[in-house]
Amino acid sequence: MQRCPRAFVLRYGIAAYATSHPTGQLLKDSFAIQTPWILMQMSIRETIRDYVEDYQMGMKWSTNLIQLKFNQAFRYRIEDRNSIIAQLKEWKEPESIFRRVKPEKHLEEIGAERCIKLIQNESFISFLDTAILNTVPFTKSKLLDGIKTYNSPDFLAEKDEKGFLIRINLFGYNSIDQIRQDAALFSLGMKNQTIVQYSWKNGRWYVHKTNVSEKEKVSMRQLIHLDSKEMDHLLNLVGPKNNLEQIPFADSPRACMHCSVRFLCPAKHGLEEAKLEQMSLMC
Ligand code: SF4
Repeated sequence: MQRCPRAFVLRYGIAAYATSHPTGQLLKDSFAIQTPWILMQMSIRETIRDYVEDYQMGMKWSTNLIQLKFNQAFRYRIEDRNSIIAQLKEWKEPESIFRRVKPEKHLEEIGAERCIKLIQNESFISFLDTAILNTVPFTKSKLLDGIKTYNSPDFLAEKDEKGFLIRINLFGYNSIDQIRQDAALFSLGMKNQTIVQYSWKNGRWYVHKTNVSEKEKVSMRQLIHLDSKEMDHLLNLVGPKNNLEQIPFADSPRACMHCSVRFLCPAKHGLEEAKLEQMSLMC
């Protein structure tokens, strides 16, 4: 779940179901506005996916072409972001919160460098040269114990009659436990493939290959079940009149710093003040 229960409810409750209402539509648009940093990460994934598809068809890009393709993907996403912001003009506050930007040169360089380092990674090259890689759409969901779950890797690979699931972790990893937990998540609903994660950390790509045990799969399913129960509980607290009085705020002001719907949240004037006001209303 997201770091803030209220942001979760706004995004997956109200924004998802009230698009015919101006505030619902505004919420939906606001959540679609990502920071240039996030857009850079998304453009890396897109560029790598395109690279792999072309490589499989015998077209190998030069590093110059990678830079060009990355810039193209990144600029397109920035333009898209700017056009959503332009549409918010009747809402005075959001326009002052979301500023239209130009693609920053240093982000273009960082993004292209990460793409180039990945496709020059020995292990990645070995997959490209010896396996059949199929791109998995990230919007593809699986039904696990009746719960719609989005846990797709980036690629399915077959090599020497063995199956691999490849995932690109753009935001790195905190610990080996996290790598194992993520591997368990990607393995659910799949055959017994080895999970290969490429994670960006400290200026380089780290590779982790994990074979997930049945015990780890079971405990991941339990975790998903508990998460889903908590999500249902939160959405039920809203009620038919979209009442947010009982929905908790974020547990740390850090979550509010880049929150795209802060302008609609009482926490915009301070998280602690909003929590105190909520407590007084509930007494
Ligand atoms: S501003 Fe903070 S408390 Fe409000 S929805 Fe965003 S993250 Fe949650």
